[in-house]
Amino acid sequence: MVRFDWTIEELQAIYRQPILELIFNGAKVHREYHDASKVQRCALLSIKTGGCSEDCKYCPQSSRYQTQVKPEPMLGKEQVLDFAIKAKERGATRVCLGAAWRQVRDGNAFDRILEMIRSVTDMGLEVCTTLGMLTEDQAQRLADAGLYAYNHNLDASRKFYKTIITTRSYDERLETIGNVRKAKITVCCGGIIGMGESEEDRLELLRTLATMDPHPESVPINQLVKVKGTPMADLPALSIWETVRMIATARIAMPKTMVRLSAGRNEMSIEQQALCFLAGANSIFIGDKLLTTPNPSRSSDEDMLQILGLNQEKNESLIMADSR
Ligand code: SF4
Repeated sequence: MVRFDWTIEELQAIYRQPILELIFNGAKVHREYHDASKVQRCALLSIKTGGCSEDCKYCPQSSRYQTQVKPEPMLGKEQVLDFAIKAKERGATRVCLGAAWRQVRDGNAFDRILEMIRSVTDMGLEVCTTLGMLTEDQAQRLADAGLYAYNHNLDASRKFYKTIITTRSYDERLETIGNVRKAKITVCCGGIIGMGESEEDRLELLRTLATMDPHPESVPINQLVKVKGTPMADLPALSIWETVRMIATARIAMPKTMVRLSAGRNEMSIEQQALCFLAGANSIFIGDKLLTTPNPSRSSDEDMLQILGLNQEKNESLIMADSR
């Protein structure tokens, strides 16, 4: 049964189960609602890199921190199409386009993004964008261009959020997610673990997501990628067991959702990733870079998926586009 009334106590009871029991329970729910032999491959492209005015403490694209990431002009439509063609050849069914902006501004840049969305959607790919805060009207324009999903992560619990971002509020984030819903675009919304948050913070983030009705169709679980120059560069490493617990609890609380094993895979072994898939993750991001941070190479991902017997998830629109 899909529920929207989860309490912290219930989520805590799931999260704190003995790890093997938790993985088993995550796997059971996963198999009930999804084909566990398949993972969706997504490809993420930064279409406007760096120079962001926000102060997210984990992010190398913030202009407030001295990192290797330098501001770049927005990519052109041809570059985006070229990326999408190559991603599709590698088996991606979803292309995510990210811009390092506080918010979308109407005008030329937004119009160009609408054009990119139309073109990539025409290739039979799900298109997701992450462009910062959105008004209701802008969300509608994205929907009219054919946008399939909009990513806007909550990142953390409401309480912990204040310690990592001060330039926009949790409520502003929730408002953007509400605007995406009103425009009938699917919601991609998740968080990051390993930023120094407590177990209570992680559970509170999951509670916020799992009490949304409907649940976000997509929940990325990111492990912090520590980047030199950001305030989080020297935080201690996160245990893989925390990631596995997060994924399994998300799977159990939001059974129909695509749970995406997102940032942090570059530091994980195949065995560690296998535990995440077993616990309920059913999507990864492919490509050597995840926006600006390293991601596993094509060959290591192909090897992993081959070893684990995980196939590409096909979406209907892709099958239709292929048969045209
Ligand atoms: S996470 Fe997004 S909003 Fe925050 S600094 Fe980075 S690019 Fe800007």
